[in-house]
Amino acid sequence: MRTKRCSKCGEIKSVNRFYKDKNRKDGVGGYCKECQKKWQKNNPEKIRKAGKKYRKNNPEKVREQYKKWREDNPEYDKKWRENNPEKVRKSKKKYYQKNKEKIKETQKIWREDNPIKFWCLKTIATHKHKGYKVLFKSKDLLPIAKQTKKCSICDVELDYSHGNKAGKPGKQSPSLDRIDNNKVLTLSNTQIICHRCNATKRDRSMKEMFEWCENFINKFVKRVKN
Ligand SMILES: [Zn+2]
Ligand SMILES: [Zn+2]
Repeated sequence: MRTKRCSKCGEIKSVNRFYKDKNRKDGVGGYCKECQKKWQKNNPEKIRKAGKKYRKNNPEKVREQYKKWREDNPEYDKKWRENNPEKVRKSKKKYYQKNKEKIKETQKIWREDNPIKFWCLKTIATHKHKGYKVLFKSKDLLPIAKQTKKCSICDVELDYSHGNKAGKPGKQSPSLDRIDNNKVLTLSNTQIICHRCNATKRDRSMKEMFEWCENFINKFVKRVKN
């Protein structure tokens, strides 16, 4: 059995009674465990400072250890987030401020790569923001948008990338339309039409729209023909 003399209490003890210390030749600390504990208890300020110094001198190591610990304790991390929403919000904000340009660039690339997906997210958010009730999610709208390549009323080719461009919606901009305006936005009550048709239709139901068109033709087109 390897033994060592504690430089604090002077007792000769088994090396198992000493904490490991990689920086020392024999691989264990100078004080025995009991003396070490007592010393730590009596010098909290020194411990705190040493910890601070260590973290400052070994930021990579500390980050790695912290990352590993968090991966090993996913529940703790989740709980902590739930209990500290304000801190999470602040940390997210700080991260965003620090990486603003990078985040913006990544988002821009994503939007350009996923114009239809982005259009779905944006149009739902806009409708909700305006106070409409939307009873479906972006992922439900996506397959419909992918299928709807032309305006459901006038057949104009739709350009889903308009969401990425600045300025007002153009002739080919797609928009969500409630087929029956007295009902909320459900998938079955929704069609995608061009911005111009939507502006013309406004709050009319499709039935009212037909009547409007009929009236228009009767009043003007037929008159011109005769
Ligand atoms: Zn000792
Ligand atoms: Zn149209």
